[in-house]
Amino acid sequence: QVIYMNDEFVKKEDAKVSVYDHGFLYGDGIFEGIRSYNGNVFRLEEHLERLYDSAKSVMLQIPHTPEEMTNLVVETLKKNNLKDAYIRLIVSRGVGNLGLDPFSCAKPNVIIIAESLSLFPKALYESRIEIISVATRRSRSDVLSPKVKSLNYMNNILVKIEANLAGVPEALMMNDQGYVAEGSADNIFIVRKNKLVTPPGYVGALEGITRNAIMEVAAEKGYDIQEGVFTRHDVYIADEVFLTGTAAEVIAVVKVDGRVIGEGKQGPVTNDLLASFRELVQEDGVK
Ligand code: PLP
Repeated sequence: QVIYMNDEFVKKEDAKVSVYDHGFLYGDGIFEGIRSYNGNVFRLEEHLERLYDSAKSVMLQIPHTPEEMTNLVVETLKKNNLKDAYIRLIVSRGVGNLGLDPFSCAKPNVIIIAESLSLFPKALYESRIEIISVATRRSRSDVLSPKVKSLNYMNNILVKIEANLAGVPEALMMNDQGYVAEGSADNIFIVRKNKLVTPPGYVGALEGITRNAIMEVAAEKGYDIQEGVFTRHDVYIADEVFLTGTAAEVIAVVKVDGRVIGEGKQGPVTNDLLASFRELVQEDGVK
């Protein structure tokens, strides 16, 4: 396996960053999790748009154009002979001194890792999962927008710890007003009476690329789908609940905080959208 690191490809064992990298010292950096299906990088343009928007927001200068970055992602896949892969693109502030000042960092570190990996064991997302809601809150009012996919994932990690302690694979975060925001690394949709709703960005949800793809697919198929604010109560009484994310794809949730959702199995709307999503990922993408 080779990893792209600052203009060269290095062996996995040699892919190392300095302890003075502000990505390590302060979580100062941004990232994207991307996926390729049969050699097609799914929605690479949208991932790169989010990456460059995140960079602009936190004043991080990416030393490549989006076109160059596109080529680098594809090249990383090819060099590793991968067709179905998970790709992690990281841009950290780079090596500086121990102070907080990002302007002490001479240049960002740009890293691309590609491996065959599924974050949720396949057996889980082919069936269904149980989740809980947790005390950790998703901020909607930080100066740092939840739209920035920064290396500061402590909040999400706290969610994951709460989920792990409860013995479930994923958990739901509310915002400070008690509205449902998202999971630790995925977006949520609820379905009731054939109407689909997902929380808007201003509630604190990341505008996920899988989420956007599902919204497009659902609208094309004629479903009534919209962004909307909802509480845990709405989740409990939904006919269907599912999560979306690059790693999770589309995954049915059949129990939330002990309440059985609908009939306790992957529902017809989730089934339908999952099937369309599987078709889409095969035909859509950058080669
Ligand atoms: N929400 C958070 C906090 C995430 O980290 C992710 C994963 O990238 C998502 C949602 C899902 O977004 P996407 O579909 O772009 O992977």
